[in-house]
Amino acid sequence: MTAAEPEYSDVLIIGAGISGIGAAFRIHEKNPGLSYTVLERRARIGGTWDLFRYPGIRSDSDIFTLSFPYEPWTRPENVADGSDIRTYLTETARKYGIDEHIRFNTRVISADWDSGTDTWTVETEQNGGPKTYRGRFLFFGTGYYNYDEPYRPEFPGIENFTGEVVHPQFWPESFDYSGKRVVVIGSGATAVSIIPSLTEKAGHVTMLQRSPSYLLSVPRINPVVQAIRKMLPSTAAQSVVRLYNIVVTVLVYVVSRKAPKVTKGLLRAMATNRLPEGYPVDVHFKPRYNPWDQRMCLILDGDFYNVISEGRAEVVTDHIDHFDAEGIVLKSGERVDADVIITATGLQLQALGGVAISIDGVEVKPQDRFVYKEHMLEDIPNLAWCVGYINASWTLRADLTARAVAKLLAYMDSHGYTHAYPHLGDKPMPEKPAWNINAGYVQRAAHALPKSGTHRPWNVRHNYVLDAIDHRFDRIEESMVFGRAEAKEDAQSA
Ligand SMILES: Cc1cc2nc3c(=O)[nH]c(=O)nc-3n(C[C@H](O)[C@H](O)[C@H](O)COP(=O)(O)OP(=O)(O)OC[C@H]3O[C@@H](n4cnc5c(N)ncnc54)[C@H](O)[C@@H]3O)c2cc1C
Repeated sequence: MTAAEPEYSDVLIIGAGISGIGAAFRIHEKNPGLSYTVLERRARIGGTWDLFRYPGIRSDSDIFTLSFPYEPWTRPENVADGSDIRTYLTETARKYGIDEHIRFNTRVISADWDSGTDTWTVETEQNGGPKTYRGRFLFFGTGYYNYDEPYRPEFPGIENFTGEVVHPQFWPESFDYSGKRVVVIGSGATAVSIIPSLTEKAGHVTMLQRSPSYLLSVPRINPVVQAIRKMLPSTAAQSVVRLYNIVVTVLVYVVSRKAPKVTKGLLRAMATNRLPEGYPVDVHFKPRYNPWDQRMCLILDGDFYNVISEGRAEVVTDHIDHFDAEGIVLKSGERVDADVIITATGLQLQALGGVAISIDGVEVKPQDRFVYKEHMLEDIPNLAWCVGYINASWTLRADLTARAVAKLLAYMDSHGYTHAYPHLGDKPMPEKPAWNINAGYVQRAAHALPKSGTHRPWNVRHNYVLDAIDHRFDRIEESMVFGRAEAKEDAQSA
């Protein structure tokens, strides 16, 4: 292989986060004869759990369903810290030899499908220089948001603020906010997980929100899980604990959707029980929408309410008028002074890690294509994008996707097929939003996402139970086109 020749692997996996690691495991498990390479733009394993380093970064769903079914989570917590999740992913990759297949500091820029050879040519920037890879199948484990640009709303006058402004996506290492007045703008999962930790060192912390979110308090260490682990041998305990958490997750979601009034009442009671007598719960913790119209935020053992009760943090519900040198002036005329402002204002959705996709040199826009079985794209051969659930742990969907792709590769291999793509043809397919929550980051970028149809296998439905049943009885040929490369020349040397 001369220097210029692209490095070939049967499967190219982009991203060494939960999805990429999971795909490598399942693809190798079912197709040990296939070669694979993982292309990762960062220098470490972990994706989200490597990028986000703000104080208090933790999972916002239970770790027993966020971890892999084949690699038990052995620590006691039910909700895990970011650093422990990163360690878990790194150790899992090492245990199964996946780390040897990872090319770090390798950012994928573009991927072009060559229908002559049925291969993808992938252009990357590796350690600052160009490097080309070739592969038969492309698995995108690139996550769902832009790694370079978080969402930064326009804040009038922010340039006048003399203090420090920090975005949680780029938390400066050893950033010192000890004794300082810290204002966190936002009320989502990041805000409610960072604030209790900030109060440990900051002088005072204020959460400034335009509108409240629903907070569900859960135990960091779940007594039911501990009891199951005491009663059963570890492997059985692992499956039962996982099932228990799946049932709880599904139940909370279904009850929230079917009985919003009851759910609102329960969540309000959780707040009033933890907050001081007479605290204005309906001002700061009464959203205008129904539970799970937007992602419900987890708090641990009431930690967020506790720091308010202890006077170490407070919530201000108002709109920002402008910034000045000392802090923030609100529409109500009130002001919040600060030394540090943390803009927990969210992510920017991005499809396929921002990689430019083309077929025989013709650009393909993901947003013009329907999603097939929640992981392939209409008329795009040998490509899968792994996207998790918004109302349950990401890995539940990611593992189904990894297993479906592993099965497809085995099927193609056993039939000598070199390409496979889902085809809708001219059948009319009404569209519906792919992500059925009206969260800011979804509304701002819904156009960037591939399309969801209204019925299977072209609908995106965020329902693990139905997806697991579908996966069990999956018909691999359904709406799929299979074939062999025109050019008989060997893909490796093409
Ligand atoms: C703060 C935060 C908290 C979260 N908490 C939870 C939670 O509790 N539960 C839950 O289920 N989900 C949660 N999520 C969603 C989270 O993204 C998923 O849990 C999961 O980590 C996604 O895994 P992934 O591997 O698909 O994507 P990511 O973790 O985003 O990893 C993608 C990887 O691809 C790499 N990559 C991207 N583009 C390219 C490119 N062009 N070239 C090369 N490499 C590339 C990235 O560097 C990264 O390593 C959270 C997300 C955030 C931001």
